[in-house]
Amino acid sequence: MVEARPPVALVLVTGFDIYHQQLIRGIRPVLAGRGLVLAVNTLNLVSSGLTPSLRQLIATVSPYGALLTPCRHPEEQAELVALLQELRIPTVTIAARMPGTSWVHGDDRGGMRDLMAHLLDECGVRRLAHARGLVHQRDAVVREQVFREELAARGIPVDEDLIVDGAFWHEETYRELRALLRRRRDLDAVVAASDMSALGALQALADEGLRVPDDVLVTGFDNYPTALSWPALTTVDPEQIEQGRAAAERLLAELDGDARPGEEIVVPSRFLARGSTRSLAPGDPEQVAAVVALARVAQEQLAARDALWGLSYVLSNCATPAEVADALAESTLSRLGIDRCFLAVFTDDPITGDPSGDGPPEDVSGGRPGTTPASDPGMRARVVLNYSGGEQGPAPSEVFPLGRLLPSALRHELRTELLVFQPLRASDRELGYVLFEQGRGSTLVTDWLRTELGRTLEAMFSTQALREHAATLADVVARRTAELAARSEQLEAEVETRKAAEGRLQQAVAELHRLAMSDGLTQLANRNRLQEHLGVQWKELTRHGGEMALLMIDVDLFKAYNDHYGHMKGDEALRIVAARLADAARYPQDLACRYGGEEFVLALPGTGLDAALLVAERFRAALAAAAIPHERSSVAPRMTVSIGIAVARPQDAVDPWSLLDHADRALYRAKTQGRDQVCSVALGPTGRAVAGGPVAPRPRSPRVTIDPGAR
Ligand code: GH3
Ligand code: MG
Ligand code: MG
Repeated sequence: MVEARPPVALVLVTGFDIYHQQLIRGIRPVLAGRGLVLAVNTLNLVSSGLTPSLRQLIATVSPYGALLTPCRHPEEQAELVALLQELRIPTVTIAARMPGTSWVHGDDRGGMRDLMAHLLDECGVRRLAHARGLVHQRDAVVREQVFREELAARGIPVDEDLIVDGAFWHEETYRELRALLRRRRDLDAVVAASDMSALGALQALADEGLRVPDDVLVTGFDNYPTALSWPALTTVDPEQIEQGRAAAERLLAELDGDARPGEEIVVPSRFLARGSTRSLAPGDPEQVAAVVALARVAQEQLAARDALWGLSYVLSNCATPAEVADALAESTLSRLGIDRCFLAVFTDDPITGDPSGDGPPEDVSGGRPGTTPASDPGMRARVVLNYSGGEQGPAPSEVFPLGRLLPSALRHELRTELLVFQPLRASDRELGYVLFEQGRGSTLVTDWLRTELGRTLEAMFSTQALREHAATLADVVARRTAELAARSEQLEAEVETRKAAEGRLQQAVAELHRLAMSDGLTQLANRNRLQEHLGVQWKELTRHGGEMALLMIDVDLFKAYNDHYGHMKGDEALRIVAARLADAARYPQDLACRYGGEEFVLALPGTGLDAALLVAERFRAALAAAAIPHERSSVAPRMTVSIGIAVARPQDAVDPWSLLDHADRALYRAKTQGRDQVCSVALGPTGRAVAGGPVAPRPRSPRVTIDPGAR
C-alpha cells in the first residue's frame, strides 16, 4: 500500500544556528497538528542564490504555507520572495519583509530601551562604549539608534571614540575593544549588539585586567543559551520561540480565513539583568541558580563536542556513501540525539516507483504556475541511509522525484512533526540531501551534522567526479592516440608515395638532363654538355693547376661519302666514329662530344700536348682498324679524320672557348696540309702559341664564341 503524502509547511532558514532552532521550537507545536514541518536550509555557501534542487523542492513539495526567516544575502531573499509569490504559497515572514505578507519581529527597540535604562538609571554608568553589529543589518541599526537616543534623553553626549565595530561576533569585538582599552580605560560599560559580541568584550576586559562588573559592566543581546559566560550576561531576550509561535499561528489564521495578510506583529522582548551588570553576594540564590544553569549548558556543550569529534573521526574514514551510512547508523546518530536520518543522493536513473501513488493531498493553490509538470520529474533521488528509531533499515532502491522527499516504502516517515531538509553540494553540483530529526542533545548538533556530512560527501563526490573525469580523459587520450597513429600511418604512406614520385621525377629530370646534354645520333655528349663540362674543369684547373687539351676532329670528305653512300650510311659511319672516339678517351674527366655535323671535340682536362697527341693517334688507329670504306676519298680508301689540338694552362689568361678556337685553327691547318693528320698548338701565358707554330686564321665563320679579351 502506498502512503498518501502528508500536508507540508515550509520553514525557510539560512543555517541552523541557535536563532533558527529557537524559531522552529516555537513553530513546531503550532503546525505539528497540520502535518509535516519541513525546515529547509537554503544557505548556499558555494554560490549566491537558490540552487535548482531547492527551487524544485519548494515547487513540488506542494506546501500549504511557508514561514520565511531572514536570508544572509539580499539577492537570496529577493529570489525566495519572488519564488514564493510566483508559486502563490501563503507566507508569513519573521524579521524579514515580503510585500503583501504579514511579518513578525521582536521588539528590539523596547528591549534595548529597558537595557539602557538599567545601565544609566539603575547602575548609574556614564561613559558607555558600544560594540555595534553589522551596520547594514536592521537589528544593528535599531540597537545603535536606541543606544544614542537613550544617552541623548539623559543629556549625555555620545563619545564617538567609544563606538567600535563588533560585527555581532566575538573575534571582532575582542580585537576592537582591546585596541580601544590600550588607548583609554575611562569607560564604565560596554553595550554589545549581541551575546556573541559580549563574549568577546568580556575576554578583552579580562585580558586588560579589568573586572566585570566591578570595573566595567557588559551587556549582550539575544539571550542565547550557548553564550556561556561568567558572570552570566545581562541581555535582552527577543523571545524567538515566541516569534516562531506567533508567525505559525498567524499563518494558520490567514489560511483559515480568520486574519488578513499584510500585518506587522511585534513580539515583546524581555530584558534580563544578570551578573555582568550586578554584583551579587556569594551564595545569593540567584547566583547559585546561574552557576547551575551555566554548568548544565557547559556539560551539554562538552558532550556534544565529544560526539562531534566522534562524528568527524568516523566520517573521515569513509570512502563511499554506503560507508557513511553505516558509520552514522552504527553509533554516531544516537550519540548526537538524532532519532531519524535519511540520506538521499541525486541520480540520473529513471524513476522506478509508482509515480501516481501519492499526489499532493489537495491542490490549495489551484494550479500554480512554475510547478514542474508530471511528465518531467526533474531531479530524482535514491536513499542510501534509512535510519529511524535508533535502527538502520534497508535502503529501498526506488528512484523517486525530489518533491516526494522519500521513496514509497519510507513515506510513513514523513508523518512526523518536523524534519530538517539539508541540501548537500559539491563545489559545482548538487549531490543530494539529508532529511533528519533531532529529538534531544545539543542544539549545535544539527549544524555540525550538516557541515560534517556536507564536507565528507563533497570530498567523496569530488574525488569520484575527479576519478570519472580522469577516466574520461584517459579515454580521450587513448582515442586521440589511436587517431594520431592511424593518421601517421596514412602520412607515412603518403610520404612513401611522394618519395616514389620524387624518385621517378628525379629519374625523369635526370633523363631529361641527359637528353638535353647528349646527342641523339651518336649518344655522345652534345655541345651544351661540353660547355658545362669545360666550365667546371676549367675552374678546377685554374685552382689546382694543370693543362687542358682540346681536340677538334672533322671527318674528311664526308659530303662526298654522303653523296656516294647515302645519308643512312653516313649516319652509321658517324656512330662508328663516335664510338671509337669515346673509347680513345679513358680518364673519367675526359669528355667526347659531337660538336655538330661530322665534327667532334674531345676534352682532356689535366692533359698535356704529348698525352693529347697520344690519344689522337690512338683514335686514328682505332678508326683505321674500323676500316670504313670511302671510295670517293682522295686521301685514303677508308674513312679518315683530321685533328686539331690546342693545349693551355687555364690559369694563363685564356678561356676554354678561345682554346677551342685555337684547336679549330689547328684543324684547319691539318685540312689544308692534306687531311688525315694531326696539327697542334700549345699556348703560353699570354695566349700565344709556344709549340706547333702559329696558326693561320681559318677563313670561315667562327663556330664558337670567342672571348675578345683572350685574343
Ligand atoms: P672536308 O674534308 O673539307 O671536311 O670535307 P667535307 O665534305 O667533310 O666537309 P663539308 O663541310 O663540305 O661537308 C660536311 C658534310 O657532312 C655535309 C653534310 O651533308 C654532312 N653531314 C653533316 N651532319 C651529318 C649527319 O648528321 N649525317 C650525315 N649522314 N651527314 C652529315
Ligand atoms: Mg666539317
Ligand atoms: Mg669534314
